[in-house]
Parts: sequence; C-alpha cells; structure tokens
Amino acid sequence: AADHTMYHAKHTGRNNVCFYSDIVHLKALGREHVAIQSRLSTAIRNNRLQVFYQPIVDARSGEVLSVEALARWQDDQSGWISPELFIPMAEKVGLIQELSELVIQQSFAKLRQWRDAGLTQKLMINISRSQLFQPQFVTQLNERLMQHRLRAEDVVLEITESVALTDYSRQLRHLRQLNDSGFKIAIDDFGTGYSSLSQLHEMPAQILKIDVSFSLRLHTDDGRRMMQAIVQLGFALGLEIIVEGVETLETARFLQGLGVQRMQGFYFSEPVPSGVAELWMRLGLQAKV
Ligand code: C2E
Ligand code: MG
Ligand code: MG
Ligand code: MG
Repeated sequence: AADHTMYHAKHTGRNNVCFYSDIVHLKALGREHVAIQSRLSTAIRNNRLQVFYQPIVDARSGEVLSVEALARWQDDQSGWISPELFIPMAEKVGLIQELSELVIQQSFAKLRQWRDAGLTQKLMINISRSQLFQPQFVTQLNERLMQHRLRAEDVVLEITESVALTDYSRQLRHLRQLNDSGFKIAIDDFGTGYSSLSQLHEMPAQILKIDVSFSLRLHTDDGRRMMQAIVQLGFALGLEIIVEGVETLETARFLQGLGVQRMQGFYFSEPVPSGVAELWMRLGLQAKV
C-alpha cells in the first residue's frame, strides 16, 4: 500500500516519464560522490533497495507476458538515484554482488508469490559483467531457484551487448553454462555495443532486446530503415525480439508491421512497484495495440 501511494504521488504527468523525477545525475555529484557511495553501501546492507517491474507485452494482444526487474534506490538525502549511476558505482566499489543478491532475492520471492496466486509470469533480470564471471554465480542462482521453488526456464538473464567484446571466450563459457542450466539469455541494449556479427551468431542467446535509442529514432526514414534491418537480422539469427523504448501507439503499430512479437516501453507502462504490477496481472490488463 505504501508503494502505491508513492507511485501516484510522484507520477504527475505525461512528461514526467521517469517518475523519480528528482534523479541525480553523475555530473551534478562532484565531491559528493564518496558520500553517496557510502550511503549506497549502507542501503544495500540494510536491504533498502527496491525492485520495480516493467511489463513486456505481446505485440498482437497487448497482454503482459513477463516483467523486467529493475533496481531502484531512494536515498534519504538525494531522493531517487538513477541506476545508470548506482549500478556502475556498485560495480566499481565491489558492491554489485550484494546488490544483485538483493534483486534476485526480492524478484524471485515475488515471482513465487505471483505463481502461487495463479498469476503466471516470467521474469527478466539484468546481469552485470562482473557477476557473469563469478564462479559461484550459477550455483547461487540455482540455490535461489530451489529456495523459491522456481525453474530456470522461468527466468531470463539479460546481458548488455557492450560486455561482449572483452574476455569473449570466457564470457561465452559462462553463458553456455547458464544456458545449459536452463536459463534463457537475452542480449540487452542491442545495437549500442561492439559485438561483431560473427560473435552474435555464436552467442548462446535466445532473445535480442533492441535498444531504446532505435525506437526513439522512428520519426526519420533512416531510423525506420535501421529498425527494420535490425529486426530482420534478429529473425535471420532465429532470435526472439523485444523492442525496448516503445513510447507511443504509433511506434507499436510500426513495429507490429515489422513482425515484432514483444515490446516494452512507457506506452505500456513505466517500471512500477510490485504492488502496481500485481494489480495489472490480477485485472488481466491488456494494452491497446
Ligand atoms: P536496461 O536493462 O536496458 O533497462 C531499460 C531501461 O530503459 C530502464 O531504465 C527503463 O526505465 C528504461 N525505459 C523503459 N521504457 C522506456 C521508454 O519507453 N523510453 C525510454 N526512454 N526509456 C525506457 P532504468 O530503470 O533507469 O535502468 C537503467 C539500466 O540500469 C538498465 O538498463 C540496466 O542496464 C541497469 N540496471 C537496472 N537494474 C539493474 C539490476 O538489478 N542489475 C544490473 N546489473 N543492472 C541493472
Ligand atoms: Mg535490461
Ligand atoms: Mg536495455
Ligand atoms: Mg540500458
């Protein structure tokens, strides 16, 4: 209930797309950086980070098929801080493991509750490069699955494409291992990284998430042609496609025309607290597409 109130209080209008409207950006931080790092560490230790959920919808029916878990942090002093800031910070200062553990715990527990309530849902979670390379990561994930009586098939791991180039063969090995355990792999932010097409072909991935930036360029001919080419590339490689950053019905319709099956974006919903996500599931909400 508390979640709910906060959501409505902050969500004041169409342009307020990131409803944590007082986001703190890197530039603005300056020497406050160190202080923020230490508050982040405290927040993680005290389990004060939250997980929000954004729906991924079926492009034809508008039905919610799964949700992406996204970490959120409301700092007492600075307000909502963007994950674009605190995720890299957590990586840099060695807190990403703990942060990830928190996100996994919260989202798996939620998925279990949703399953028990008959709200069948699949979950997508973001995995950092440093986690991928942790030898105990697969074991840790599997333990958490068991603890919550979930199957690896219920969870998709999103790996950003920019990770792709360095330590390539090592990464491949870890991804295969996760894939062999049953987890589906999605390449996140596709089109913004540096992976070559031959690498993409070799990746043990099942899903391609096309980056927000491509969706925001569909008002130009070039932008539309680019999107079309990427979608076709994904299909040629036999991948399932999710387009991120769908902000308008017009965009959704254009993507439908390209044969895209899954979409995610503010047109459908921003990332919301679990209580709000649960409400749509209970109501069986379907977006207009
Ligand atoms: P991402 O995984 O690519 O997540 C999608 C981002 O796009 C989210 O930003 C989401 O709020 C935003 N977005 C969704 N729909 C739209 C739209 O229609 N238009 C626009 N312009 N943006 C949209 P968010 O939540 O700020 O997260 C930023 C990044 O932080 C994520 O990008 C992900 O890479 C990282 N991140 C978030 N949570 C976690 C986590 O638990 N673990 C790890 N390792 N990384 C995380
Ligand atoms: Mg993601
Ligand atoms: Mg993305
Ligand atoms: Mg991203």
